[in-house]
Amino acid sequence: MSNIFHPPVRTLMGPGPSNVHPRVLGALSRPTIGHLDPTFIGMMDDIKSLLQSTFQTRNEVTMPISAPGSAGMEACFVNLVQPGEKVVVCRNGVFGAHMIENVQRIGGELAVVDNEWGEPVDPDALRDTLKANPDARVVAMVHAETSTGVRSDVDTLCAIAREFDCLTIVDTVTSVGGIDVNVDRWQADAVYSGTQKCLSCPPGLSPVTFSERAMDYVARRQTPVQSWFLDLKLVTQYWGEGGARVYHHTAPVNALYGLHESLLMLQEEGLQDAWDRHAKVHGLLRDGLTQLGIDMVVAPEYRLPMLNAVSIPAGADDAQVRARLLEEFNLEIGPGLGPLKGKIWRIGLMGNGARQKNVLFCLSVLDQVLNR
Ligand code: PLP
Repeated sequence: MSNIFHPPVRTLMGPGPSNVHPRVLGALSRPTIGHLDPTFIGMMDDIKSLLQSTFQTRNEVTMPISAPGSAGMEACFVNLVQPGEKVVVCRNGVFGAHMIENVQRIGGELAVVDNEWGEPVDPDALRDTLKANPDARVVAMVHAETSTGVRSDVDTLCAIAREFDCLTIVDTVTSVGGIDVNVDRWQADAVYSGTQKCLSCPPGLSPVTFSERAMDYVARRQTPVQSWFLDLKLVTQYWGEGGARVYHHTAPVNALYGLHESLLMLQEEGLQDAWDRHAKVHGLLRDGLTQLGIDMVVAPEYRLPMLNAVSIPAGADDAQVRARLLEEFNLEIGPGLGPLKGKIWRIGLMGNGARQKNVLFCLSVLDQVLNR
C-alpha cells in the first residue's frame, strides 16, 4: 500500500528548482476558487501588471503560460515561426540546443551560431551569420545559460537582430528576478521565463511577454499554430485581451496564487535590491570557494550571480560528493551537463536561496565532505 509522501527538507542550491519562499507556500495553500470567479479574474489582471514590472515592459501581451519554462520556449517558437522560415539560434549550452529542436519540429530552417560552452554568444559571429543568411526572420538566444553559468549580452544581440529586421526570442528563465531583464530596453519581441529559479516559486509556470511586432506577425501568419494549447490567439483571449475572457483551459489556480505572492514580494523588495542581493551573495560564495581552492569556470565579466559553475577539485568524486551532500546534509548542488559533465558543479543562489546563510552552509559542508 502507498503511504503519504513527505519530501525531505532540503537546501536547494542547484540549477533549480530553488527553495520556495514560505510566503509563496502559504499562498499556494489558500482555498481554490473557480478560474472564472470575478475575484480570480481580478488577480489575473494583477499578475499581468506585476509581470510587466518584472520584465520591465509595457507589452500588453504579458502573462504566464500554464506550464513550465519549456512550454514558454515552445510558445515563442510555434507562434513566431512557420514551416520553411529561417531562424538563427545562438547556442552556448543546453538551452540553445532545445531551441534548435523546436525549430526542427516546426519544419523551420536553421542557421546556428555556435559558441564554446562557458562562453557568451559572440555578437560578431551573429552578425556574420545574419549577413550569410539574409532570409533569416527570427534570432533566438539565451540570456542566462543555466548549463554553464554564462550571461550573454542581450542588448547587443537584439540590436544586431534588428539591423537585419529579425524578430527576437529571448530565454530569461534563470535571469528574471536575479539580474537586470529589461524587455523594453532590449526591444526583444518574445521573452519567456520560469517560476522555479529567482522567483522562489515551484516549477510549472512560464511568464511570457510579446511585443506589438510579434503580435502583428501572429495576426498575419498564414498557417495555423501547430499547438492548440500554446496558440497565442487563444491564450490571450483567456487572459482578457480586448476585454473579453474566453475559456481556453482551467488555469492552475493555486499555482497562480503562488506566482502572485512572489511577484508581490519582488515588488516590495525592489528589482534593483533583489539583483544587488544576488550579486552580493555571489561575491561571498566566490571568495569562500577560492579559500577552499575551488575555481570559478566562467570569466568574471560573463558570470551569472545565481548560477555558479565551479571546477570539481582534482581527486574529488563528482557523484559521491554530491550524494554525500544530499544524504548527510540535505544540500543539493547541480552536476555539469553535456561536455561539462564530471568537470563542474553548478551552485545556485536563486531567489530566496540567495542568502548569506546558504552560502556559509554550503561552504562549510563542502569543506567537510571534501576534506574528509
Ligand atoms: N531555459 C533555461 C535557461 C533553463 O534553465 C530551463 C530550466 O532549467 C528551461 C529553459 C526550461 O524550463 P523548465 O525546466 O521549467 O521547463
